[in-house]
Amino acid sequence: MEKIDKFYQYKNLYACPICGKKIRFHAGSLVCKKEHCFDISAKGYVNMMGATKPLKGYDRQFFMSRSEFFAKGYYEHILNAIVKKVSEIKAAADGAAAGADSKEGAESVSQLVLIDAGCGEGYYSSALAGRIEGLQIIAFDIAADAIVCAAKSKENVAWTIADVTNIPVKDGICDILLDVFTPASYKEFGRILKKGGYILKVIPGSNHLKELRKAAREQLKNKDYSGDDVSDYFEQHYDILSQETLTNTMPIDQETLKTLTEMTPLLFDVDVSRLDLSEISEITVEAQLIIGRA
Ligand SMILES: [Zn+2]
Repeated sequence: MEKIDKFYQYKNLYACPICGKKIRFHAGSLVCKKEHCFDISAKGYVNMMGATKPLKGYDRQFFMSRSEFFAKGYYEHILNAIVKKVSEIKAAADGAAAGADSKEGAESVSQLVLIDAGCGEGYYSSALAGRIEGLQIIAFDIAADAIVCAAKSKENVAWTIADVTNIPVKDGICDILLDVFTPASYKEFGRILKKGGYILKVIPGSNHLKELRKAAREQLKNKDYSGDDVSDYFEQHYDILSQETLTNTMPIDQETLKTLTEMTPLLFDVDVSRLDLSEISEITVEAQLIIGRA
C-alpha cells in the first residue's frame, strides 16, 4: 500500500499526457479532470503511457544486466559527481530560503523538484533520493521493463512509464533536470524547467569503453564518440555553467565483461560471438558532465 500512497505527494506535479489537465489521486490511480486514468502498480510505479511495446534490445534481461554491472561500481564516479552537483544546488537553495526567512535561527529546508529523464533502472535517482533530503523526484523511462526494475528500490521516487517527447508533468515545475546517457527532447525540457532551473546532462566521453570499441572496431559503424553536436545544441538553449570529463579505468574479469556486452547499446548491431575479448583486462568508463541553466 505504501508504494501506491507515495504518489499522493507527487500528484500536484503531474499533468495528463493526453489532455494536459491537472491530475488528482483517486482510489490508487492518477486521474485527470477529463477522467483519463493511469493505474499505479502495487510494485510502486505509475504507467502514464497506456500500452507499451518493448523496444528492440531494451528488455528485462538488458536492465537486469545493467543493474548487475552498476552494482559493481563502474559508474560510481559519475554518480558521485552528480550527487555532488545536486547537493551544491540544494545547499544554495536552502541558503536562499533561509535568507528569505526573517525569523532568527529558523532552519529553512527547500523542496526541489528533480526530474530524471530516461532513468533506466534508476541507478542515479535511487542514490539521490537516499543521500539528499528535500528532493521530490519523478524518474521516468519509456521502457516498462526498466521502470519495473527501478521500482524495486526502497527509496521515495515516483517511478513513471512515460515518453520524453510528452513528459507528464506541469509546465515550469522542474528545478533540476537529469539527462544521463539518454536522448534529449529540448522542447519538452524547455517547457518543464523553471526559469533558472538546472539541467545536468551526461554524454559518453571520447574514451568511453575504448577497450571494447577497439575489439569491435571492424563491426562498428560509428567508430568514435563525438559530443560536439550535443555541446553546440546545449549552448544554444542554456547558459553553460560547467563542463567536466569524468574518467575511471577499472579491472574487469571475463564474466563481468560478458555482462557489459549485454548491456551496452554500443554493441546492439554487433555480433558479440565474433569478438575476441580475451585480451581485455580493464575497462574505461568516461563521460562528460555538462551543467546548464535555463
Ligand atoms: Zn487527461
